[in-house]
Amino acid sequence: MSMNNVGRPTRPEAAANDGSTGHETLTGGRGLLQDEALIFELDCWNKTGVDLPPAGPPSDDLAGLLRDAPIGLPGLSEPEAVRHYVRLSQKNHAIDLALYPLGSCTMKHNPRLNEKMARLPGFSDIHPLQPQSTVQGALQLMDRLAHWLKTLTGMPAVALSPKAGAHGELCGLLAIRAAHEAAGNGHRKTVLAPTSAHGTNPATAAFVGYTVVEIAQTDDGRVDLADLESKLGDHVAAIMVTNPNTCGLFERDVVEIARLTHAAGAYFYCDGANFNAIVGRVRPGDLGVDAMHINLHKTFSTPHGGGGPGAGPVVLSQALAPFAPTPWLVHDDDGFSMVEHAGEEGAKTAFGRMSAFHGQMGMYVRAYAYMLSHGADGLRQVAEDAVLNANYIKARLKDVMSPAFPDGPCMHEALFDDAWLEGTGVTTLDFAKAMIDEGFHPMTMYFPLVVHGAMLIEPTETESKQELDRFIEALRALAGAAQNLKGGAGETERFKGAPFHAPLRRLDETLAARKPRLRWKPVATAPLAAE
Ligand SMILES: *Cc1c(COP(=O)(O)O)cnc(C)c1O
Repeated sequence: MSMNNVGRPTRPEAAANDGSTGHETLTGGRGLLQDEALIFELDCWNKTGVDLPPAGPPSDDLAGLLRDAPIGLPGLSEPEAVRHYVRLSQKNHAIDLALYPLGSCTMKHNPRLNEKMARLPGFSDIHPLQPQSTVQGALQLMDRLAHWLKTLTGMPAVALSPKAGAHGELCGLLAIRAAHEAAGNGHRKTVLAPTSAHGTNPATAAFVGYTVVEIAQTDDGRVDLADLESKLGDHVAAIMVTNPNTCGLFERDVVEIARLTHAAGAYFYCDGANFNAIVGRVRPGDLGVDAMHINLHKTFSTPHGGGGPGAGPVVLSQALAPFAPTPWLVHDDDGFSMVEHAGEEGAKTAFGRMSAFHGQMGMYVRAYAYMLSHGADGLRQVAEDAVLNANYIKARLKDVMSPAFPDGPCMHEALFDDAWLEGTGVTTLDFAKAMIDEGFHPMTMYFPLVVHGAMLIEPTETESKQELDRFIEALRALAGAAQNLKGGAGETERFKGAPFHAPLRRLDETLAARKPRLRWKPVATAPLAAE
């Protein structure tokens, strides 16, 4: 029987639980969670949640685009629709349920104060097409947020409108391309990125029309300076480097990387997704960075991973500031206003806009609330605690799992390889699936690509020592079970068959990624025809 940490048996069923699947249920439901069909399969054509007045005659200004078949929306009553989505949400993991250790993703707690601020009518009940004189408070908040982002990064300009980290990368590279073209350097068509780069880096560069060349990595997980130098030249437009990098390590030579890059006439794009590890301690502007996106949904605690839209403002150096996208804010005697068009107010060759309006207002409010509630010293402590928590995990697991870079401390995430699983028959994937059965969401797997069978754990600063200890104990128990398999003892099924206790068992993730089935086709269309 298992006891909790105060010696109380909280799981009387534990003795009987041998880890097997137990009996199958008759309905596919499981412990108050019903099996859930697709919303279209729940559909009943003659049911509706709201009564709408009959539609008037169709307007004919749609140039032949008028729909002539029924739209085919599923018919559900309001409680059925509510239950459908609540049931689906119960099958998902969420940061409000437990630690969410996805490395590189910075799944930190979303403070409730942020939510309260974002729901203030002055922020939530406004529209981007309202006259600017009626939304001065919202514009002022954007201006204050921009001020904090510039101050924290030591950069002179910021484009707020990109809507995700990857969108920010696109914005930064488009500014870099515009700057090169304005200087008659349009022939620079190569972007350099380390082998450990996040997939969005080469994808963004390719999307902008650049050829991507990899920079090698040293044995201690950093950019290989000699290799970088050999690949720089008159053909290089920019380098894209993440710092701290995706191995969870600070690029110690970052100032030299910037110097070499600038000497070759190229720009330094920094992937700022890991800013959480250094906010308040290091200003990227001091390191020679020309452009960097900031994931408000990572460092500044706005929801993501199904919880809300991202926001990826990009800070720009003096050299790139004139190439920022529209819109941006200006302030004069009449208050705040937004510059909407290239050519106004000193924009050189602005490439246009990154989004239809000004970006994610709700996320600006949340991020700014987070900044004000922490203050400058609090934000510095965010970085320090994030790094402390990751090092605690690394220290407490290094005797049972193998850190990819054992020497020295890590930054905000602890990276392990799969060397410690050798001879057990268990893979990184099996281990991750077994974690689900134990109630823990897996860490990031098989990324970065440079580390074999990588397991990247990012606890963030919002986890307490107690939460970290529970997570660590679960991983230690599982690691022990895996080690037992070496001698041929123990149950392989615990890993190979996992997950047993999740709503769905092991899925063919490759097939799902390669051949996603994104469309639902009705089995029988008779009810629609009768309409
Ligand atoms: C999250 C992340 C990105 C992409 O950010 P999105 O907001 O998901 O588009 C890019 N690089 C790194 C290192 C990341 O962790």
